[in-house]
Amino acid sequence: MITENDTIAAPATALGGALAVVRLSGPRSLELCDRLFRGSRRVGDAAGYTLLYGNLVDGTRIIDDVMVSVFRAPHSYTGEDSVEISCHGSRYIVSEILRLLIRNGARMASPGEFTARAFLAGKLDLSQAEAVADLIASGSRSAHALATNQMRGGYSADLEKLRGELLRLVSLLELELDFGEEEVEFADRSELLRTMERIDTKIGELMDSFTLGNAIKEGIAVAIVGEPNVGKSTLLNRLLNEERALVSEIPGTTRDVIEATITLDGITYRFIDTAGLRETSDTVERMGIARAYESISRAQIILQVVEAGHGDVTPISVREDQRLLLVVNKIDRVDEAVRKSLPQEGCIPLSAREGTGLERLIAALRETIDTTRLDAGETVVSNSRHYAALHEARESLRRAIEGLDHLSTDLLSEEIRQVVYHLGTITGEITNDEVLGQIFSKFCIGK
Ligand code: GDP
Repeated sequence: MITENDTIAAPATALGGALAVVRLSGPRSLELCDRLFRGSRRVGDAAGYTLLYGNLVDGTRIIDDVMVSVFRAPHSYTGEDSVEISCHGSRYIVSEILRLLIRNGARMASPGEFTARAFLAGKLDLSQAEAVADLIASGSRSAHALATNQMRGGYSADLEKLRGELLRLVSLLELELDFGEEEVEFADRSELLRTMERIDTKIGELMDSFTLGNAIKEGIAVAIVGEPNVGKSTLLNRLLNEERALVSEIPGTTRDVIEATITLDGITYRFIDTAGLRETSDTVERMGIARAYESISRAQIILQVVEAGHGDVTPISVREDQRLLLVVNKIDRVDEAVRKSLPQEGCIPLSAREGTGLERLIAALRETIDTTRLDAGETVVSNSRHYAALHEARESLRRAIEGLDHLSTDLLSEEIRQVVYHLGTITGEITNDEVLGQIFSKFCIGK
């Protein structure tokens, strides 16, 4: 798929807008465009970064008025000659342009092929290419920040530094091997240990940041739990009205779990409205309840909803890595004295029906997520492929650290080489077609 040096074409915009862009990249881009373009100048004569206006024609038939942006190698996204044709956003016009380009010798690009070419041309490393996909998918301020940080390459620079240090260690160790039988030690073992421990800490920090990165990328799972009729659905609907939201009903019965994705204050949450938690003999309801417990176990935040004025509340127990927020709903129904008697700390009084007290809930949700690292522009790992590679790297590093006293020099250097290898797979220093194919096939056509 990836290594061919032909000219590819694809629509780069989703249909439905006033304008659409068709992209071409490869050595024949300018020439192919000229076959269809009629303007005061030829595309092939234009300098890079120029914009031409004219008609796109099929013989004598005008297809559309277009603007053509010209990019010349190596100063383009893919590093190749490329052209972007902006036309009117009609499905018919876009398909006609593509048909004509393909008839004249272009090939329809496969998913992610433009970005794959950018990677192969050394314009982006692999983690930056993956960040392009994340950026396009980003639906909140924090997801956007995450993808832009990664795309700017700070992450790659961090990894490169670690790889550099490790390679230095390997070369010292391998120098010892070159001396064969002689008992020489170029790599001072205590310095080796210190360096490896420092790298271990650094990899550990990157791995820890995945909890935040993954939550931001996938949305933070919040389970809304409580007895039937305390107002869980009303609360969810109220939150949905706060922001543009996407509601997805998980197929099943009406008593099943409902999930809704809501972006509040720059963070995306996946709210899960669970079936009422109580003892029941109804089989369908019981299934709903089983699912509710499953949702609770997956959630990072548990919103326990209770009714105001219903006496003492027993907070449900949550795991150490989960946060419990206690919502006291229906405060509109109780009098001032009851409202005043609610504890100041540890509970959020509100009325889901009237929409009062929601700001406190939103602020409390926001406080559960520490985004300092992200806000400071530090590296936050959000890609599970990277997390897996870091994990592998750390396993090898740990083996090297533990084996420092008893492993032979060649085994030791082999373990460190493994660390270098796994870190290299993140940025794509080390890769193969299969991995690349897997990564880029998840992209859309035209990316
Ligand atoms: P769920 O079973 O926990 O999902 O509860 P619902 O959201 O279906 O609400 C149960 C009943 O409580 C409905 O009649 C709601 O209108 C009512 N309700 C929900 N929230 C409030 C509130 O803040 N104030 C009052 N007075 N009634 C509420």
